[in-house]
Amino acid sequence: MMQQILDDIAEQMAIETKRGKVADYIPQLAHVDPSQFGIAVATPDGQVYAAGDASTLFSIQSISKVFTLTIGLNKLGSELWTHVGREPSGDPFNSITILEYEAGRPRNPLINAGAIAVVDAIMMGRQPKTVMTEILQFVRSVSDDDSIGFDHKVAASEMQHRDRNAALAHFMKSFGNLEHEVDEILDIYFHQCSVAMSCEQLARAGLFLVSNGINQATGVKVIKPQQSRRINSLMMMCGHYDGSGEFAYQVGLPGKSGVGGGILTIAPGKGSIAVWSPGLNPVGNSKLGTKALQLLVEKTGWSVFAN
Ligand code: GLU
Repeated sequence: MMQQILDDIAEQMAIETKRGKVADYIPQLAHVDPSQFGIAVATPDGQVYAAGDASTLFSIQSISKVFTLTIGLNKLGSELWTHVGREPSGDPFNSITILEYEAGRPRNPLINAGAIAVVDAIMMGRQPKTVMTEILQFVRSVSDDDSIGFDHKVAASEMQHRDRNAALAHFMKSFGNLEHEVDEILDIYFHQCSVAMSCEQLARAGLFLVSNGINQATGVKVIKPQQSRRINSLMMMCGHYDGSGEFAYQVGLPGKSGVGGGILTIAPGKGSIAVWSPGLNPVGNSKLGTKALQLLVEKTGWSVFAN
C-alpha cells in the first residue's frame, strides 16, 4: 500500500515540467540536476519504503537545524531558550530585520540566525572540529548509518560566500549574544548544512520524532518525550521560514526544509517522510517536494489536525 503510494507519487513528479529553481547563491549547489526527485517513508517498525532517486545523496542544508536543536536541548535543556526564541519569524531564512528590533536574539532555532546561535550555545568553549564531530556522530546515530559524512566542497563554498550569514552572526555578537568567534561558529554551521544524505537515510533519521524521542527501530532514546513534542511544534511553526503557514495549511505536518531541496516531515506515531527535489519555490522550499507531500497526506490521511 505505502510502496504503491510512493511509486505513484514518483511517477507523477517525473512528468512535472514546473520544477522550481535550484539555489545558486551557494555556487556548489547550483550544479545539481533539477530533474531529480526522491521520496522515502520510514515507519516505527524499521521499514523504509522508497521511490525515485531516494538513495541519491543531497545536501541537507537547513534540515540539519533540527539535529543541532535536538543536541542543544539535550545539552542545555530550557537554558537554550535564553539564546534563541521560539516564535515564527514570517521572514526569509537569512533575514536580519527582526534581529535589530529584538536586540540580536533570533526568533527561532530554524532560521539561519537562530541556528547560528544554537551552534554558539553548544560549542561551550570547544574547538570547531570537536563540535563538528559531535554533530556528525549524532546524525549517524539517529540514522543508524555510519557512512554519512560532510560534503567538504559544499562547506567550503558556503564559507567562501558567507557574507550574509557572517553579517547575521556579527550583528548578534554586537549585542553580546554570541560567545565564540564568528568564523569558528560559521565553520561548524556550514559543515552541519553540508551533511550529505539520501531520502532513505533522512527518513530513518527522523524516526525519533515519530515516537516521542525514541527510535523504535533501534531502541535508542534520543531525547525526552516532552522535548520531542516541542521540536515537532517548532518544525510546524517555523520549519519553512515565511512559507511555514502555507506548508501547515497544505500539508498539516511538522516539516523542515533545506535549500538543497530536501524536506523532512514527521507524522507523529505514523512515520518519518523525506522528500527531495532540488528546484525551489520563491520562498526557498522544494517545489516538487511540497507537492509530493500534499499528495502523500491526501492519500494516507496523515495529519496532526485530523484522525
Ligand atoms: N546553509 C544555508 C545558508 O545558511 C542554509 C539555508 C537553508 O537551507 O534554508 O544559507
